[in-house]
Amino acid sequence: MQKDKVGQEIEAFGWVDRIRNLGGLVFVDLRDRTATLQIIIDPKAIPGVNELGLQDCIQAFGKVRERPDAQRNPKMATGEIELEVNKIEVLGKSKVPPFVVESDVKANEDLRLRYRYLDLRREPVQHAIMFRHQVITAIREYLNKNDFIEIETPILTRSMPEGARDYLVPSRLYKGKFYALAQSPQMYKQLLMVAGFERYYQIARCMRDEDPRHDRQPEHTQIDMEMSFVNEDDVMTMAEGIFAHVFKKTLGQELNTPFPMMFYKDAIEKYGTDKPDLRFGMEIIDVKAVFKDKNFPPFEDKTEIRGLVVKGGGAFSRKTLDSLNDRAKESGMSGIFWAKREEKFSGSIGKLLDGGIAGQLQIEKGDLLVITAGDKKVFPFLGNLRNEFASELGLYEKGFEFLWVCDFPIFEVDEKTGAFTASHHIFTQPKPEDIKYLDTDPLKVRGRLYDLVCNGNELASGSIRNHNRQMQEKLFGIVNMDPKKYTMLLDALEYGAPPHGGIAPGIDRIVMILAGLKSIREVIAFPKTTTAQGLMEGIPDQVTPQQLKDLHIKLDE
Ligand code: ASP
Repeated sequence: MQKDKVGQEIEAFGWVDRIRNLGGLVFVDLRDRTATLQIIIDPKAIPGVNELGLQDCIQAFGKVRERPDAQRNPKMATGEIELEVNKIEVLGKSKVPPFVVESDVKANEDLRLRYRYLDLRREPVQHAIMFRHQVITAIREYLNKNDFIEIETPILTRSMPEGARDYLVPSRLYKGKFYALAQSPQMYKQLLMVAGFERYYQIARCMRDEDPRHDRQPEHTQIDMEMSFVNEDDVMTMAEGIFAHVFKKTLGQELNTPFPMMFYKDAIEKYGTDKPDLRFGMEIIDVKAVFKDKNFPPFEDKTEIRGLVVKGGGAFSRKTLDSLNDRAKESGMSGIFWAKREEKFSGSIGKLLDGGIAGQLQIEKGDLLVITAGDKKVFPFLGNLRNEFASELGLYEKGFEFLWVCDFPIFEVDEKTGAFTASHHIFTQPKPEDIKYLDTDPLKVRGRLYDLVCNGNELASGSIRNHNRQMQEKLFGIVNMDPKKYTMLLDALEYGAPPHGGIAPGIDRIVMILAGLKSIREVIAFPKTTTAQGLMEGIPDQVTPQQLKDLHIKLDE
């Protein structure tokens, strides 16, 4: 609302954001989800105005007028006008809020989550939630235009772990039996392909009882999609189309597609992670050959000797590097060995370096070389270090660096049990050329898997599925999963199942990254804490003995 309203009599609804008493007039910032409007009240004309409190919900009647030049505020959407109030009605009185509801909030997150409805009144939070709506709208637009059908699938389903623990729901009608909350619509979307819908999507809620982690919620939302008669390229192109459309619609930015692609194996070797952040270089380098003849005992007998050349890393103190050395040892490596290039080479392996090696490794003045030696654990270790160095040195360039990471191994070994588990999920087709290893060396089997990564975050994960019962059963066997739990899928695969594949971009993370925010809790209207509690709802909570009895449950005290 700007100058075109000047002179009009209007009524404005909103919340009292700020009150100032100046020269006998009361100035109130009235906020709604679109903007904040300055309203001016003359206490002489409108008695009771002094009782107005912050966060009261009010209706103000009055005439819009232009602000005097000196009082214009270019930072406000309504900064050129104000409302001269002739009547006010308090629609909802507010108690004194438990924290000051302001953009630059000081209150801690727990208090804000306890009163989330007040926290949600803050301008940046309103903006994030409305931005999320725009992102979802753009996604729907794109998929609808591309002949996808939005179909809801059950939330109450059977316990069919997909990699996480299930949230279980006890049945009242069937003693001792349970439903489970869907970890994702994976089973159902495959059945929808068998049913012939060809292109499905759903803004789906996924419930997973996983161990708490900073960036995880017990329930998250994803754009769950599946397509029939497709290969990897088809699904990836569709996903790129979604992102390009969302970027254009919400940020006004053109995205370059197709996104680059990297094999899992290369991602690990060069970046130490399957989600490389490509906003900066600093690839992991193999220095085994370089130091082969140096007779340096810590490097002897090590399968991997890898390092990072850190541009400008000469600035790191010896203390910092010593602490990294301890960390490397704790993580099973032989330590950190480093050299700085100044006038000469200094550091724990300074004496091993010379101009030739420096030239070969492109170590310039002011740079730091960090090396560690060990087994394949050096990769994740250096991968983490790479990110830490980049953030210390502010190397992150602005923008969004997308990347597909493909051909993940289907299986990995569970460190606790030593058994094979699925690295993503088990409904993935093996690469045809690797099927021969299924019986002899499953760890060698790569899947038709693709993950979308942006700025070091996994944004989506998908695969081409098995549409053949025997193959699906074989994979279940390798990871020791009970095929009986998946009878509905296995049976369906015997009734003319089409080849199909899909992907599921995670909405919380996408919105967080696009909005430039740091936590997914900021883009979820009612998030749980990192320890899976709902502070506003007070959950998890006890239930009454009668409720337990109805569900045939006895608590083990
Ligand atoms: N069901 C998978 C997940 O939720 C995504 C997919 O493979 O489409 O992670």
